[in-house]
Amino acid sequence: LIELGKVAKSFLSSDGKPRSVLENVDFTLREGEIIALLGKSGSGKSTLLRIMAGLVPADQGRVEYRGQPVYGPAAGIAMVFQSFALFPWLTVQQNVELGLEAQGVPPAEREQRADAVLELIGLSGFGGALPRELSGGMRQRVGIARALVTNPDILLMDEAFSALDVLTGETLRDDMLELWDESRIPTKGILIVSHNIEEAVMMADRILILSSDPGRVRSEIHVDLPRPRNADSQEVRALID
Ligand code: ATP
Ligand code: MG
Repeated sequence: LIELGKVAKSFLSSDGKPRSVLENVDFTLREGEIIALLGKSGSGKSTLLRIMAGLVPADQGRVEYRGQPVYGPAAGIAMVFQSFALFPWLTVQQNVELGLEAQGVPPAEREQRADAVLELIGLSGFGGALPRELSGGMRQRVGIARALVTNPDILLMDEAFSALDVLTGETLRDDMLELWDESRIPTKGILIVSHNIEEAVMMADRILILSSDPGRVRSEIHVDLPRPRNADSQEVRALID
């Protein structure tokens, strides 16, 4: 679905020197697969997701979505953020419809599709509410609904459950997995970033680890895990440097 080849990214640090954050990142998100991306804080996970979503350009390397280079935000790739990133002055319905507005979908269809996805995610009847009137878990459901309403092929989830309390996060995660396993969402591939190893092991078919070698070189380790999602989290933990 999406293929990365030798992707590299550096940022200018405060002393004006470039600091390498990602180097030689290669992997492919295949159809039907959930990948979890792990790595220490600062290892470049969010940067990599933003590159894949076309929100930030890579300095070097190749990012191809269905064989086409990703240059900017692509229809077909949607992102869910840790902080929900909802517009507080817009209603739930308006927040969800935003992605469709950008695609030029007419209002009647927008409304109908937003209704359908809100129902799917368990928020029927909340379309008129403002984000501040909702619990954290419900707000993230809005964030997920906004991503899903565009019928994305690829869903990129950056610590989507980590701002929630454990029970709320687990419930939302299990609901997402159920939608995925039952093919009730059109999404063909999911990449999650998580700090929660159990969550990664639970959700993913494959776990990638961005290493944070002292200095700058970032590499990655592939761990192939069979379903059912029962890999040994101790084994995975040992691979995070
Ligand atoms: P965390 O687990 O804490 O979310 P992460 O793995 O997602 O970390 P990134 O947010 O991708 O890490 O950041 C990787 C490195 O790149 C960090 O050192 C960060 O300071 C730096 N960085 C990220 N974005 C920028 C930017 N826009 N300008 C300068 N430096 C940046
Ligand atoms: Mg991050």
